[in-house]
Amino acid sequence: MGRHTGPVCKLCRREGAKLFLKGEKCYGAKCPFGKRSYAPGQHGQVKTQKRLSEFGIRLREKQKARRIYSIGERQFRRYFELADASKGDTGEKLLELLERRLDNVLWRMGAAQSRSQARQFVRNGHVIVNGKKVNIPSFSVKVNDVITFKEKAANFVKKVVEDIREKSAPEWISFDKNKIEGKVVSMPRRAEIDALIEEHLIVEFYSR
Ligand code: SF4
Repeated sequence: MGRHTGPVCKLCRREGAKLFLKGEKCYGAKCPFGKRSYAPGQHGQVKTQKRLSEFGIRLREKQKARRIYSIGERQFRRYFELADASKGDTGEKLLELLERRLDNVLWRMGAAQSRSQARQFVRNGHVIVNGKKVNIPSFSVKVNDVITFKEKAANFVKKVVEDIREKSAPEWISFDKNKIEGKVVSMPRRAEIDALIEEHLIVEFYSR
């Protein structure tokens, strides 16, 4: 299953949680989640009330994470395999790999309204890492990487930064709003990742 390309608010309803996929709208009164928090479709309310099986709970958690980071099924599995092959807690490693994606980093530091806008910035060739253009949203950042924007895009990004309500970058990233320059100061630790994900359920899903 590839990346979802339809209306994203439906995904929040499907997962029964706000996934913050639409930037500023997610934080205001226009977010439809509060009004209709049951699953979409004709039988949505029934589906939401139905008790999930153990398998269903794990499947939904995996889908939720995939949707938050907007990643296709195969790529998500590859992240899991990488995490599983690494030392340490597999679930935490999985979240670390997801957080280190360049599109996520731009959003986390407050240079984009949403991960999907961040992805566009990268795909359109506006983003520079350590002096070189990077147009791959899944590019994995490492400590001391410096992230800037092409001159042409910097003014637009500056406007985006001004429009975003007060948001501070997590401790593992520093962001200079005047220079529109970010730096990865450390690897993300679980405590610094505010994703509403129970990663152990995803590990259990793939380990079944
Ligand atoms: Fe989800 Fe944001 Fe849409 Fe609200 S506005 S339902 S949080 S994507």
